[in-house]
Amino acid sequence: MKYIIIGGVAGGATTAARLRRMDEQSEIILIEKGSYVSYANCGLPYYIGNTIPERNSLFLQTPTTLGNRFDLDVRVRTEVTAINRDAKTVTCRQVDSGKEYTERYDKLVLSPGTVAVRPNLPGIDLPGIFTLRDVPDTDAIKSYLTELTGTQKEAVIIGAGFIGLEMAENLHRLGCHVTIVEKADHVMPVVDWEISSTVQKHLADKGVTVLTHNGVSRFERDGDRNIVVLEDGQQLPADLVLVSIGVKPLTTLAVNAGLEIGALGGIRVNRYMQTSDPDIYAVGDAVETVNPLTGKSQLCFLAGPTNKQARLCADNLAEGNIHEYGGAIGTAIAKVFDFTIGSAGLSERQLQREGIPYLTSITHTGSNATYYPGSWPVSIKIQFDPATGRLYGAAVCGKGGTDKRLDVLASVIAHGDTVRDLTDFDHAYAPPFSSAKDPVTVAGYVAENILTHKMGTIQWHELKEMLANKADSDFLLIDVRSFLECKAGVIEGSVNYPLDELREYMEDIPTDTPIVIYCAIGLRGYIATRILKQNGFDNVRNLAGGYKTWMLCAVNR
Ligand SMILES: Cc1cc2nc3c(=O)[nH]c(=O)nc-3n(C[C@H](O)[C@H](O)[C@H](O)COP(=O)(O)OP(=O)(O)OC[C@H]3O[C@@H](n4cnc5c(N)ncnc54)[C@H](O)[C@@H]3O)c2cc1C
Repeated sequence: MKYIIIGGVAGGATTAARLRRMDEQSEIILIEKGSYVSYANCGLPYYIGNTIPERNSLFLQTPTTLGNRFDLDVRVRTEVTAINRDAKTVTCRQVDSGKEYTERYDKLVLSPGTVAVRPNLPGIDLPGIFTLRDVPDTDAIKSYLTELTGTQKEAVIIGAGFIGLEMAENLHRLGCHVTIVEKADHVMPVVDWEISSTVQKHLADKGVTVLTHNGVSRFERDGDRNIVVLEDGQQLPADLVLVSIGVKPLTTLAVNAGLEIGALGGIRVNRYMQTSDPDIYAVGDAVETVNPLTGKSQLCFLAGPTNKQARLCADNLAEGNIHEYGGAIGTAIAKVFDFTIGSAGLSERQLQREGIPYLTSITHTGSNATYYPGSWPVSIKIQFDPATGRLYGAAVCGKGGTDKRLDVLASVIAHGDTVRDLTDFDHAYAPPFSSAKDPVTVAGYVAENILTHKMGTIQWHELKEMLANKADSDFLLIDVRSFLECKAGVIEGSVNYPLDELREYMEDIPTDTPIVIYCAIGLRGYIATRILKQNGFDNVRNLAGGYKTWMLCAVNR
């Protein structure tokens, strides 16, 4: 058996190594058009920012070590330019000499990855405008930065996704003043605003300028610098521009070979990672797989799913099609300065787009026991089915321990489990790590209270709209925080009945008026809601995420 694998990084190298572990006898050729194989794409922003000081640390293997360990024929600086499916051959071109030759295969695997989107804007080819996709891009950015003179360098990042924000932190680390331009209405558009707002505020606190709802219309040159001209006419001087607005599956080979391409532009594969040609498999960023939550096709540009597909693909090649890929729920995470932010499953926005009914809850719970040093709130927003409680999606933001909460939530989402399973989750607890009620447990408790109508909630945007249209007697807004807390700021139009005195104020509260309660984060609001509900007040709602979410989402926007 002779295997050819095209693409020598995440998907390709993993497929090759696993295939060898399954099959010691076959011939395996790994072809990569660049100079490097099996390197850490995900580490590139951190190498640029000197967080990872050694360039060599990015290379998990060299072509020689990879070839020796797994007995692979690794051919770098070799591009596959065509696939001849009838003859079962590929055409290879040696990048340096231009020499071409054909190579026969029994089975072929494609893992060509993506290309960075480079918008066709006037001035896009000016010097100092980069995308970040691979090692050569990284080297180019790094050497360009080294040559810049002056202490304050202006960096403009177009696109506030995961890589854009990682680069913002790393360029800031190098002494650049960073401006981020984002077309959507907030940073990290895949994460709902209730959670990404913390990071957006944090970026501003760190001195990063964030311009949302704005795009680039053109780039101009002014002496040694570029000027980024925005759609609203603003002009941003830029010593360095990073365009980070996404990637597209690299499908040229597949298209020219007549393989089926999906509606989203990725190579279509079945659950065995097999393309429309049974002798050609494909994995990684270039393929379209099925989202297990929507049942629809999706593109997923993440290293975890790529590696899982690659292992499964190798097993299917070696053992026959026996393993099915279940699809990814898009669990993703990033460090943005002092915060960790991430999401899994379907965001509120995606659920709306899909027309799937849902309820949400927002909680802010200490990462560990508040009496133990280092506790910081982990903010969790979850979306769940209003009838069954099935967890559809989660977004988290916090400092310590945020990643493990995200992984627990992702596991529940992926297994089709419900918010009740969050309340049952048997988490590890000692004061430095968690509390007897973990943030994930609390998210489950709150969701369960909403689901079973023990507590009605109101979202910050609903309250904002109600306040904008409020006639005096429309509803009563009660702040149940302490008098001292209220001195630092309140939602306009509220009355202050501190929780511990609420029962004394009960006579002043009309029973026939809708009531909205809020406290700092939602916990005392919940207790107040229960007191009022059990005293004959039927129409009571608690502000989700409390004053904290209100300030982040409604006021600081
Ligand atoms: C800066 C950056 C940061 C990232 N951070 C994260 C992260 O933190 N977490 C995460 O989950 N994911 C992250 N990713 C995404 C992750 O790297 C990708 O999902 C993963 O590398 C995809 O693997 P792949 O094999 O499909 O493509 P790649 O790893 O890109 O490999 C494709 C290879 O195929 C080669 N190739 C293409 N066409 C041909 C051809 N015709 N002939 C020969 N060779 C060819 C290319 O040169 C390329 O080296 C990041 C990506 C980047 C760029």
